Amino acid sequence: MQRETGGEPSLSERQQRDFMSVLAALAVLMQLATSVHLHSQPDQLTRAMQADLGVAFALGLLVLTRVRAIRLGTLQKVVVGAVALWLVLNVVSVIRTARPITSGLLIHMVLLALFAYTWLPARVAAMIVTAGYLLLVAATSFSRQPDLPGLVLTGLVLPLTWYLTVHGRIVSGERARSVQLAALAATDPLTGCLNRRAGHSQLLALAAQWAGHPERLSVALCDIDHFKRVNDTWGHEQGDEALARVAQTLRAQVRAGDLVVRWGGEEFLLVLADLSPHEARAVLDRTLRGVRALQLTPGLGLTLSAGHATLAEAPDITALLRLADQRLFAAKRAGRDRLCSAPEATETVGTETRF
Ligand code: GH3
Ligand code: MG
Ligand code: MG
Repeated sequence: MQRETGGEPSLSERQQRDFMSVLAALAVLMQLATSVHLHSQPDQLTRAMQADLGVAFALGLLVLTRVRAIRLGTLQKVVVGAVALWLVLNVVSVIRTARPITSGLLIHMVLLALFAYTWLPARVAAMIVTAGYLLLVAATSFSRQPDLPGLVLTGLVLPLTWYLTVHGRIVSGERARSVQLAALAATDPLTGCLNRRAGHSQLLALAAQWAGHPERLSVALCDIDHFKRVNDTWGHEQGDEALARVAQTLRAQVRAGDLVVRWGGEEFLLVLADLSPHEARAVLDRTLRGVRALQLTPGLGLTLSAGHATLAEAPDITALLRLADQRLFAAKRAGRDRLCSAPEATETVGTETRF
C-alpha cells in the first residue's frame, strides 16, 4: 500500500532466528572437529567425550532455534544459558584435571559476554559476566598451564564488549524510533493512508521508475460524491468514520507497492503500477463498486467519482495530476458515481488525449 519510509528496517525476527541457527550450526561443526581430533589421541579420551557432549549440546541448540513455538526472547535466554553452562562444565573439567587453559576457553568467555550484553538486561548480563570471569580466574589457579596474559587480555576485552553492545543497542533503538517517526510523518492519522506530501514524493519516485513504460503507471484522483451532505445529515463524526471506511476499501483493492494517498479532505489519489490502462480501469471500476457497496449507517450510501490518467499521457507529474483532475471534474459533471478515463483509441505512448 505504501512504500517503506525512513532508513533500513532493523533485523526481522526471522533473520535473528536464522542468525542463531547459523551460530549453532557452526558450533556443531567446531565441536565435531574437536571431537574427531581428540578421539585420534588415546590419552585425551575424557576431553574427547566432553567434545562429544558439546556436539550433542550444539545440535540441541540448533534444533531449538528452528522450533517456531519458542519465542525469540526465550531462545536468546536459552542460548546465553547454554553458553554459560558450557563455560561452567569446562571450568569444572580444568579444576578436576588441571589441564591447560586454552584460547578456546577464553574466547568462549568473550562470546558469553557478547550474548549476555546483547540480549539480557544490563544488570543481569553484568552479573553473569562477572561470575563467568571469576570462574575463569578460579580455573586458572588450578591449571598447570594457566595462560595469565590471556586471562588479563580477556579481562580487558570484557568491558569493551559491554561498551560496544550498549552503544549498538542505543543506535538500533534510535534508528527504530526514527523509522517510526518517518512513518508517522508520512501517514494521514484519520485514514492511515499516505499524506499528500509523502504521496507526492513517492509518486515522483514511481514515475522515475516507470519512465521506460509510462503507459503502465496509472493515477486516479477519487472524490467522494456529495460528502458535505454526509456531514450535514449524520454529523462530522460519522463523516470521519465514512472517510476511514472508504480509505480501507481503496487499500483493499490495490496491491503492495501501489499508493493510496489522502490527497485532501474527501479526495484520494490512487497510484497503480505495472498495469495496462485497461487493467488499471478494471481495478478502479472494482474500487467504485466497493465504495458503493459499503455498509455504513442505515440510509447512508456513498459513491465515488474518479479521473484516471496514465504517465504516457502527460509530460510530467504536474501535467499528469492536472489531467486526472480534469477527468475527475468531467466525471462529476457527467452525473458523479463514475470513472472518467482516456478513450481507448488514444491510449498509446506519447499520444495527446482528451476525455
Ligand atoms: P462533490 O460531489 O462535488 O465532491 O460534493 P462534496 O460535498 O463532496 O464536495 P465539497 O467540496 O462541497 O465538500 C467536501 C466536504 O468534505 C466538506 C468538508 O467538510 C468535508 N470534509 C473534508 N475533510 C473532512 C474530514 O476530515 N472529516 C469530515 N467529517 N469531513 C471532511
Ligand atoms: Mg466530494
Ligand atoms: Mg472534493
